[in-house]
This record gives sequence, C-alpha cells and structure tokens, in this order.
Amino acid sequence: MKITDNVATLKGVGPKKAEALSRAGIDTIEDLLYFFPRKYQDRRSETKMCDVKFNEESLIVGTVMTKNYDGNPYKKSKLLKLLITDETAVIEVVFFNGKYIADYFKEGSEYSFYGRITENPNRKQMVHPEFHKKGDSGDLRGILPVYGVIEGISQNEIRKLQLQAKEMIAELAEWLPEKTAEENRLCSSAFAIENMHFPKNGQAVLQGKFRLIFEELLIMQSGLMFMRNSKNTPGRGIRLEQDFGQEFIKNLPFALTKGQERTWEQIRADLLSSKAMNRLVQGDVGSGKTAIAEIAMYSCVRNGYQAVMMAPTELLAKQHFENLTNDFARYDIKVGLLCSSMKAAAKRETIEELAKGEIKILVGTHALIQPNVIFDNLGLVITDEQHRFGVNQRSLLTEKGQNVNSLVMTATPIPRTLAVILYGDLDISAIDTMPVGRKPIKTIAGNSLNRGKIYDFVASEVKKHRQAYIVAPLIEESENVDAASAQELFLEMQSRFRGSKVALIHGSMKQEEKDNTMAGFAAGNIDVLVSTVVIEVGINVANATVMVIENCERFGLAQLHQLRGRVGRGQEQSYCFLICGSETELAMKRSETLCKYSSGFDIAEEDLKLRGPGEMFGTRQHGLPELQMSDLVRHADILEKARDEARRILAEDPNLADNENQILRNKIEKMFGKDIKLQL
Ligand code: ADP
Ligand code: MG
Repeated sequence: MKITDNVATLKGVGPKKAEALSRAGIDTIEDLLYFFPRKYQDRRSETKMCDVKFNEESLIVGTVMTKNYDGNPYKKSKLLKLLITDETAVIEVVFFNGKYIADYFKEGSEYSFYGRITENPNRKQMVHPEFHKKGDSGDLRGILPVYGVIEGISQNEIRKLQLQAKEMIAELAEWLPEKTAEENRLCSSAFAIENMHFPKNGQAVLQGKFRLIFEELLIMQSGLMFMRNSKNTPGRGIRLEQDFGQEFIKNLPFALTKGQERTWEQIRADLLSSKAMNRLVQGDVGSGKTAIAEIAMYSCVRNGYQAVMMAPTELLAKQHFENLTNDFARYDIKVGLLCSSMKAAAKRETIEELAKGEIKILVGTHALIQPNVIFDNLGLVITDEQHRFGVNQRSLLTEKGQNVNSLVMTATPIPRTLAVILYGDLDISAIDTMPVGRKPIKTIAGNSLNRGKIYDFVASEVKKHRQAYIVAPLIEESENVDAASAQELFLEMQSRFRGSKVALIHGSMKQEEKDNTMAGFAAGNIDVLVSTVVIEVGINVANATVMVIENCERFGLAQLHQLRGRVGRGQEQSYCFLICGSETELAMKRSETLCKYSSGFDIAEEDLKLRGPGEMFGTRQHGLPELQMSDLVRHADILEKARDEARRILAEDPNLADNENQILRNKIEKMFGKDIKLQL
C-alpha cells in the first residue's frame, strides 16, 4: 500500500464508499489523512452523575439498577430503558429501538456511556448514547476526533479508515524548508497529522493545528505571490510620459469631491512612476469611482496605450460601455465592448479593432480573459467590483500586456490587513466623500402590516415622475420557500400601478430582453421595475428614487446596502423600504443597522459583529480557494508569518523550480486548481 493509492485499497471501502469519499474530495490515502476532524470530544475522565449538566455531552460510568424492555412484537417502537447509578445520582438511559442491544445490558453490571444529557422534567436522561461494558475490549475514553459529515460514511467508519491510513503517515515527506520549520517552531508534518487523528493530548493537537494552519496559509500565499510574479517582472510598470488628467477633469460636468481628488492624486503619482501601479480603490456605491477610472484611462490613452475595464456582469459591462462611449466621444476615443453573449461576428470585429489599436478602451465581462483577445499596447487594467473575480482571472488579464498598471475598484470595504493579504503589496485609496447635493437615502423598515401604506407612498413618488425598483428574492413562486417572487410581485404591481408602466427583469430572461428592459428603465420609459438581484451591482439611474426590498431577511447586509445604493444617485430625496417577512432577531438587527448607517464602511463593521469574521471574509467571495484549517481573520498573525516565509521562498526560487520546492508546487496546484498558471 502506498500513500498515493486510492482509498478503495483500504479495508471496508467498496465502490459505493469510494464514491462517497470521492464526493467529499477524498480520493487517495493522502487525501484521507488530510481530512481533519472538525472538533474533539474530551472523554478522558468521567463526570459524576450528580454533576452532569443539561445539554452537555458527558462520559458517565455506572451500574444498571433496572432494565425495562418493551419487547412486545406488535408494537412498533421497542423501547429499552435503563436506570443507571454511580451512587451520586440516577440517570435514565433510553434506546428507542432496543431490540439488538437489550441483551447486552445486565442488571448489576457496570457500563460507561457517552452522550448528551437531555431535558426531561422528571430526571436526567441520555438518549441513544454510545456505550461500553466494563471488561470488554475497547473503551469510550480518550480524546475522540469528530469529523465533518460525509454522506454514506459514519463517524466510526471514518475513524476506522484513519486507523488503517495511520500506517502510511511515516511515508509523508517533510516538505517545508528546514529553516521555515525551525524559525517558526513547527512540528513535523507526520507529528501534526498523527495528532489530528489520534491525539496524544490537547497540547499535541494544538501544536499540530498550528503547523497545519501555517502550511495551508503558506501554500495560499505562495500561490498568490507566484501568480502575481509570473510573466511580469515584479515591480516594473509602464511609466506615463505626461499626465493628461487635468484635461479630462476640467471637462467633467462636476467638480471632484475631496475623496476623489485625493484618490486621483495617488493614481496620478503611480502612473508617472516607473513602479507598476497596483491600487485598490474603495468607495461606497455612488461615490464616483467610475469617474476616477475614466480620468486614469484617458491619461493612458493620450500616452498611446490601451485600457481595459472588466465588470462582473454583462448588465454592468454594457452600462459602463454606454457611459464611456458617451464620455469619450468628444475626445474621439473609441470604446469597444466584449461579452460572451455577443454575436460571433460582432466579437470578431471588436477583437480585430482591438488588435489593430483602433479600439482604445475595451469594456467587458470575464470574456475579456480569453486567449484570442489580444491588445496592441495595453497599459492599464481596471477591474470593477473586484471581489467577484477570482485571483486567476485578474492575473490573466494583466498578463495581456507587459508591466501594465492595475487599478481595482470595490464597493465592499475590506480591512487593510486582509486587503494586503489578498492583493499583495497593494496600495489602497478610499473615496470617503459623497458628491455634494446628494441627500442621504431615507431607509424605513416595514413589514406585511404596513406594506400597503408603503406602496401607496411609492405610487405618490411615481406620480411625481420618479422611478422605483422593487426587488424580490425569488424569480417564481416556490412551494418550499415562503417568500415573494418577482413574477408574483410583477402581477401585483401591475394592478397597483394602473396607468404606469411596470416591467419585470430577472436573471433567467434572455440577455436581449434584459438589455431592452434596462434600457427602457434608464430612458425613463418604465416607471416601476420589478426584479431579482440582477440589478444588484452598479446600475445607475439617477431618476430612480425608491427602492423596495421584499423579504429583506433573505439578503445579507452587504447585499442590502448594495441594493440600496441603486437609488440616491440624483438630486432628489430617495427612499429605501425594507419589507421584512420574519421577526427573528438577526433580521431585525439587519434592518436596524441599515436604517441607522449609510456608509458602507460602518455597515461592514456591523456585519462583522453580526456574522462573525469567518462568514464575512468567506474565502469564496474573494475568489480564493477554500481553506480547511485556517480563518483569515482569526489567524491573522500566523498568516503574516506565512506570508514572510512565502516571500523568502519565492525570492530564492521565483519559479518554484528547485527540487526542494516541488511538493509545495504540487500543493499549490492542488489548492488553486489546474488553471493556475504555474508553467512559464
Ligand atoms: P460608483 O461607481 O462609485 O458607484 P459612479 O462613478 O457610478 O459611482 O458615480 C455615480 C454618479 O455620480 C454618476 O452619475 C456620476 O456621474 C456622478 N458623480 C461622480 N462624481 C461626482 C461628483 N464629484 N459630483 C457630482 N456627481 C458625481
Ligand atoms: Mg461603480
């Protein structure tokens, strides 16, 4: 047996179980060893029966006083009840189907039980505990690992498989550089893995965990740095000869806000230096990030370079395309669009014009990263709503030019420490001011009781020729979910808003239909737009002053804030109504938070408090690989150490070509998936 063998070579693993394991990502014995327990049960010592607490799991040891087995074959449930005592108290142990175990228990004999003490008015109970008879082989004692659920495989089976795999642990090569292990006082890989599954004591588990968290974060950091380093010489960037920003700014129909001014100054300095720009611009929805991006693009184009802007959705890409086409028309700068839904001929034309350098600014979705998209002279890459893209996608785009400058824009504030980790040695600008004359949006929490009144108000706004968004969590009615669907709402709104134009838009509509509807809304031909969250990001219609969110409890705080940001973009007072279909504490707190705060920075902080760091910084939403052991916030200090080590390793071996780094390389490939560009 080898560590790379399939789990099917283990005893007790047939084709069915092998498949179940594979679904959980466990194919080889090594995978199995890297499938770590979620937690441990400490069963090293028993609890006296007088000391057990409700709802706590405990190990008890006692003698069977009475055994009561209802063996009536005509009755469905064959209840087995035991009264157990250790002289300090009596506990009742219950098995609902006692048929197979009734004979195992003898009055007067001693047993141990492990289970949760359940609430019962008369006496303390344990229902279906694990049990063991004194003198039999095995034991309930010890520190027991508890694994995540794998469908089709029981806890005991996982434990038994780990016991077989244990023999293979010695085969695991120590792959961390000696220096890394020494300086960070890491235990060996074998020690760590053995103690995760077969803990000697709490201390050993902690040591093992530390090592495994460290290595997981090291693999992630090395992978991220590797991707950043590949192709482009790190640090070197295109330097603009001259800055033309002022030319563009003086033609804008507004003056820049303080935050915009500061941000542009920082970008300008980056562009005029020979160091590659790698800057994150944070700013609330509507704070005017796009205007800043335009200034940067203008300056690049005037210096003879092309610029590209990637948006997370087609809707948003098209809106950017229209705005940019407008804004750059007077300068005779051609803007192109590239989305996957475009006709083949149109795509081909765009790609040709781009290669010839006729298109100076290209806007699109992730369709931009396709290999046949080739620039004549790319100088600036802008990604909008950054966190929706994977790390890979971003680096694939910058690799389309040489030493390109990169600007990323996000409306989701990320704490500085985390941003640095995610985006490397990235500079950060914050647009923390809103354009003047922008009135804060009035946010009002409602429910089914005052829903009618809310829509009366919406109607009065529509009469004033303002426009309204109404957002539902679902597209169509569902039997399983008790929440408003966009289709239902659409019908309702048609009868509520007689004489006004009501339209429906949702994610599963044809692209053309969506575009037409959006264009109609933007042009003011549609008064009330009922939608699902397709409009979540970036849509900009200044005349829309009302946002109604139905079943707001089904959205996250950040999402609600984004949705609310669709209104309040013009001079008029805007309103956001949150109609809550649930009275749970969390739902109420969310509504409260939104009513109280208008800044995304404050809301992110509240979100953190309500949800906890693990969820808020879920790696998924940042396009990072899933982490098994580590939490980017909780383990920030380990992360920092791992980052230093990754830096050192990559400084010595930038291509990870050395023999001693081959296992690290394999582990990076495994973590990031095969599309990571590890080959040069
Ligand atoms: P963001 O991308 O940050 O959500 P946008 O760049 O789309 O915001 O800007 C929202 C709206 O505000 C646009 O209509 C834009 O023209 C306008 N705007 C941007 N900057 C200013 C400013 N300094 N003063 C007034 N309006 C502005
Ligand atoms: Mg935007």
